[in-house]
Amino acid sequence: MPLVKEEGGFYDRDPREYELRVGVVFPGPYRASINSLGHQLIYYVSNEVEGVIAERFVSDVPKSVDGSLRLKDLDLMLVSIHYEGQIHTFLRMLQDWGIPASRRRREIPIIAGGPALNNPLPVSEVFDAVVVGDGEEVVPKLLSMIREGASKEEIASLDGIYVRGKRNVRFQRASMEYLPESQILAHFPEGKNPFLLEVSRGCSQGCRFCLLGWTQRPRRDRPLRQIEEQIEIAAELGFEKVYLIASDLLSHPRIADIMKKILDEGLTFSTPSLRADELDDDVLEVLRMAGVRTVTIAPETGSWRVKLAINKPMENRDIIGVAEDLRDSGIRKLKTYFVLGFPFERLDDVKESARLAYELSSVGLEVEASVS
Ligand code: SF4
Repeated sequence: MPLVKEEGGFYDRDPREYELRVGVVFPGPYRASINSLGHQLIYYVSNEVEGVIAERFVSDVPKSVDGSLRLKDLDLMLVSIHYEGQIHTFLRMLQDWGIPASRRRREIPIIAGGPALNNPLPVSEVFDAVVVGDGEEVVPKLLSMIREGASKEEIASLDGIYVRGKRNVRFQRASMEYLPESQILAHFPEGKNPFLLEVSRGCSQGCRFCLLGWTQRPRRDRPLRQIEEQIEIAAELGFEKVYLIASDLLSHPRIADIMKKILDEGLTFSTPSLRADELDDDVLEVLRMAGVRTVTIAPETGSWRVKLAINKPMENRDIIGVAEDLRDSGIRKLKTYFVLGFPFERLDDVKESARLAYELSSVGLEVEASVS
């Protein structure tokens, strides 16, 4: 049984009517899984393939979240790995399920994907194949081929699929046309989960330490018309909040209009970490209208020398100016992300970061500094 009663968006199908039974695995708990766009995309895109039934498996529910497939019924597992720590979680899940981690000792094939596997070689003894890049266009082709009985060699020849020994794999960049026909709506004691709205994918900023800034470059924006339709669907489905998803949200040329549209539909929104140098008056005004109280920015460092090295050169005085603008727009809390341990970083650089965090806290906002 799911941990909570899902109110909508899930499939309710009879497995006996399908030829290929797929487990879509999220390496983490149920609550995290319904806030994972990648996991939901693979769930929906798989279920839309003719002859395929796909059900969700997570780390804290002992069987399928959707309730009808058992592990022993599965023909195939698909797993999305978003960061390296999820590899360990997934290996623990396999251990709990009594399934060997080594692909050579296992009967069920497991195909993985996700940003943490952009270099698939280290996991090539665990996974039978890895989708390199975006999955929503490759996965349907893959599932159709498997359903039709394709050989391992035929699957390995598919564009975007890595198997051990394959030398050239083209990184997949989806067109952004695909949108799932629904989204999972669940009700927790504290309220409903948010509607996940991917505004853009990738980033053109080119920060040197950032994987996405290199693998998903340039940024691709979803058209405003499509985003507006999604916001209307979110309201119709009964969602109350929209979570705006993008690596560089404020670069979308119509972001202020998107936020206003959400408010017009009677919904609220939350944002990921924002580029401080892109916060303009229009966005500040709509944040004020929305009653947003917390904003997250990522200065990364207070050292000008390191800022230049990582290609994120925003002067500390400008970051402090942005904090003052946020305070004047009604923001009460500023979350900040810093990184320690850049190559060639010196103690003086670290002190500059500490000084910047201190100066931000003097602006009159509650400041939370996270260090990674
Ligand atoms: S702005 Fe953010 S997402 Fe873009 S390259 Fe820099 S760190 Fe990465």
